[in-house]
Amino acid sequence: MPKSMQRHPIDSELWDDYRWHLANRIVTVDMLRDWIDVTDDEAKAIEACAGVYRWSITPYYAALMDPADPECPVRRQAVPRLSEFEIRPGDDVDPVGDRQYRKTNRVVHKYPDRAILLVTRICPVYCRHCTRKFHTTNLDGTYFGDGEALPFDEDIAYIAAHPEIRDVLLTGGDPLSYSDAKLDSLLGRLRAIPHVEILRIGTRFPVLLPQRITAAFCEMLQPHHPVWVSTHFNHPKELTPDAQSACDRLLRAGVPVQNQTVLLRGINDDVDTMRALNTGLVRARVRPYYLYHCDNVTGVSHFRTSLRAGREIMRRLEWSTTGFAVPEYVITTTIGKIRVDGDHLSQAGGTVWARNAPGETVRLDLPDAGGAH
Ligand SMILES: *Cc1c(COP(=O)(O)O)cnc(C)c1O
Ligand code: SF4
Repeated sequence: MPKSMQRHPIDSELWDDYRWHLANRIVTVDMLRDWIDVTDDEAKAIEACAGVYRWSITPYYAALMDPADPECPVRRQAVPRLSEFEIRPGDDVDPVGDRQYRKTNRVVHKYPDRAILLVTRICPVYCRHCTRKFHTTNLDGTYFGDGEALPFDEDIAYIAAHPEIRDVLLTGGDPLSYSDAKLDSLLGRLRAIPHVEILRIGTRFPVLLPQRITAAFCEMLQPHHPVWVSTHFNHPKELTPDAQSACDRLLRAGVPVQNQTVLLRGINDDVDTMRALNTGLVRARVRPYYLYHCDNVTGVSHFRTSLRAGREIMRRLEWSTTGFAVPEYVITTTIGKIRVDGDHLSQAGGTVWARNAPGETVRLDLPDAGGAH
């Protein structure tokens, strides 16, 4: 049911239908004024987005926004702000080197035994902090160019020709932007490859539009098991009864659900919020997996914290709650995901170096790193 703060009550049958939300996404400042008191900064930022960045918000997610508080953590993730247009030192559209490891239109093969498949660049909400903002949100970007609708033949052939790939992660964009029928066919083609042991789907629909996780969707997944889902809750406010029910439906369908959070300045960069988020996830039987340090992605870096701030939150979290309510704190680099700790990061002067398991090192461009540990 819509929240009472919503200004135009909506019939609950429509509210429960994800198609209605997708068809009625908020894409203009006037539509947004139906939900919140839009500030000057927000209105100017929305104007500045024209021709530069996509933005859209599902009515479901808009209903979670505080209409009066521009610093509301849900609102900050979804409504553009002018700080998005300030380019900072070290900003890069692809600091983690996705493009360098891209083997076909959709396959990024960076680690030995697993690969990601960029199913689409489309999302129900364009999160302002998206790590793949160049691909999803930037109107001049996308790895696909005009290739959004291209067939998957070349990508499936790559995976079939690489027997070391035993784990395929469908991501994007959000794969659940596709219909069940399209996903069913794609999962079936991947399942037909004998060396692909597990399929993973990275989706933020449980957070942005939980109604998308229908009984029919869960049923569709059955012949494709083992299927795992990674989702992306950043704040306890997002753990609504609807969101928890969506996770419950997946879990009951035999799909383990794990969560990946991004550490975001002013949204979840304090230990109380992080504890409430992760203990809330555990109550919902969702396993906290990664806490990502916010990368120096162009248009995102105003959300970055220092590594020291992240370490301090982790130290206090580790002490004060259930062991498995504590995610792994990592930073994504061109040489892979690196644990933020003294074994993997080192500091010389003002420079932070990262080292991966094979022993490769890379200098991190973190002007405000504030120390590794
Ligand atoms: C994160 C990521 C994966 C999966 O890594 P896990 O640590 O196994 O979750 C695979 N490929 C790429 C390119 C990634 O960024
Ligand atoms: S749903 Fe995921 S891929 Fe899409 S904009 Fe949000 S964070 Fe990025």
